[in-house]
Amino acid sequence: MCGKERLGVGIYDADCPIAIRMYGGAGTMKLSLDTLVARITEVTLTRAASFDPDDTTAYRLCNGEGDRIPAFVFDRYGEVGVVRLDGSALAVHWDALVPRLGGIAKKLGLKSLLARTLERETKVVSVWGEEPPPIVVVKERGTAMEVDLMSGQKTGAFLDQRENRARLRRFARGRVLNLFSYQGGFSVSAALGGATEVTSVDIAPKAHAVAQKNFRHNGVDPSKHKFITADAFKFVEGLAAKGERFDIVISDPPSLAPNEKSKARALSAYTTLHQHCATVLAKGGIFCAASCSSHVSLEDFLSTLDDRALGARALSVRATHGLPEDHPTLAAFPEGRYLKFVELV
Ligand code: SAH
Repeated sequence: MCGKERLGVGIYDADCPIAIRMYGGAGTMKLSLDTLVARITEVTLTRAASFDPDDTTAYRLCNGEGDRIPAFVFDRYGEVGVVRLDGSALAVHWDALVPRLGGIAKKLGLKSLLARTLERETKVVSVWGEEPPPIVVVKERGTAMEVDLMSGQKTGAFLDQRENRARLRRFARGRVLNLFSYQGGFSVSAALGGATEVTSVDIAPKAHAVAQKNFRHNGVDPSKHKFITADAFKFVEGLAAKGERFDIVISDPPSLAPNEKSKARALSAYTTLHQHCATVLAKGGIFCAASCSSHVSLEDFLSTLDDRALGARALSVRATHGLPEDHPTLAAFPEGRYLKFVELV
């Protein structure tokens, strides 16, 4: 082959940190509008059929490259679909794709379709169907969860933590500390699981307002729990100094290493955070340490939780979890498996 070997196919985006998004091996066809529509239809209908609507109504219908549709993310929030294009790689197809997506949305039983604009996840536009309500209440493994479709993070909520929230519900008890609590996903799960007092800490007061509504949606009185607006890194350090103890500690900070350069600083920040979390953990307690930094591998992350990192308060890893089944990834793209959720005892 004249020294040149075809390795696979991908789409090129000059403006994106991921210059080429691979989506198949050497024999894979070029992505025409028709192949794109066929693939999206197949992937999303199969995904939707894998969820029981009595149990879960919010999930990822299509996870970009992982579902062999580069740069195309499609999430479901009840009867509303939210599409997000990552970068401008699919922009050429966008105008022609939208009406075809309407047809797919109908097959999925959706009533509305929103799109998050190409550059940043800031502008949300209605592209098909009825104008959706700005806020919807969805079900996640039986738990009610309010989602702000217009200004929520990601496409509205952190769907990637669904199974980890469900796991927590199974073992929650006693006093729980949830750091970086956002709209209280882990907090509600802990309360429903039997925790007696949940302390949620987030820097955003607006997130707490939604978290309190989420407690009520699930029949839990938020006044029995604490919602603290603070820098969680400093707050947990203060708790450690005061000798406070919790039966369960959850830490789920925003991405600390968005690129390779910031990795060393991120590992050092995780280590300090984890030391304080381990200090406030009661004897026999469970520490759930999460990371969504794509440039921090599971092994790197575990190095911030090992005996050298945690010092006197040594803990053992009882389980490690990653992304749920509706977030498939390519074997050769480890950064796609950004989510780590480590349970330590
Ligand atoms: N665990 C959540 C998702 C957490 S997202 C869930 O299951 O849905 C990260 C959260 O960290 C955001 O809500 C953001 O407001 C918050 N945050 C960012 N920096 C922070 C800081 N320094 N201290 C406390 N919260 C912070």
